[in-house]
Amino acid sequence: MKTKRVLLVEDEKNIRDAVAAYLEREGFWVTAAADGEAALHAFSLHNFDLIVLDLGLPKVRGEEVCSEVRKKSDVPIIMLTAKGEVEDRIAGLELGADDYLVKPFSPRELVARIKVLLRRSNTSDLPQRDILKYDDLELDVSGHRALLAGKDLDLTVSEFRLLLVLARYPGRVYSRMELVDKVLGYDFEGYERTVDSHVKNLRAKLGDDPKCPRYISTVHGVGYRFESQE
Ligand code: CA
Repeated sequence: MKTKRVLLVEDEKNIRDAVAAYLEREGFWVTAAADGEAALHAFSLHNFDLIVLDLGLPKVRGEEVCSEVRKKSDVPIIMLTAKGEVEDRIAGLELGADDYLVKPFSPRELVARIKVLLRRSNTSDLPQRDILKYDDLELDVSGHRALLAGKDLDLTVSEFRLLLVLARYPGRVYSRMELVDKVLGYDFEGYERTVDSHVKNLRAKLGDDPKCPRYISTVHGVGYRFESQE
C-alpha cells in the first residue's frame, strides 16, 4: 500500500513533535506546519491524504485554513481543539472538517480516527462501478462523487457517506444514532449535532430548503430520511 501523506498543523511544539513521531512510527509520511500560513503553503505544494488541523493557530486561524483547503479539495480533515465548547467544534464541522479531537488526546486515538477516515476515502476496495440515480441526483459510489444535474457537488468524505447511507434506502428513516454508527463508525461525543452539521452542509450543496426539502427530510425527534423522487 502506498504511504499515506499527512499534513500536521499544530503550533504547540511539544504536541507537534510527539504526534509527528507517533504518526511516523505508524508508517505515515508526515509534513509538519507550525502555523496556518505554513500549512496553506505546504498544502499548495503537495497532495496530502489527510490533514490534522489545530483550530487555535497563529497567523492564519485553523477555521480559515479549513475553509481555504475546502475551496480546492475534499481531503479528510481532523480538527484538534483545546476549547471545551461544543460550539467551536460544530463551527469547524460546518466549515467542512470531517472529525475532531479535543485536547488532550492520545496519539493512539488520533491514529485510530485517521485510519477510519482513510478507509472511508479509499475507494480502491470497491469491486465495481455502482451508480445510484434519483431524478437529477446521481451518486457514483465507487468514484465517491455526487452529481446534481451533471454538476459535481464536491462533497467531503463524511457528507458523501451520509448521503449514500440515506439514499440507498429512500423513505427509510434513520435515527441520528444509526447515522453516527454508519457514517462515522464509532461513538462520537456530541454525535447528534455532528450529524446535524453534516446534514446542513449537504442540504446547502444540494440546494435543499430545510423547510421544504426535496432530498433530505427531517423526521422530528428521530432523525432523517431520503425522499424518493418517484
Ligand atoms: Ca494551538
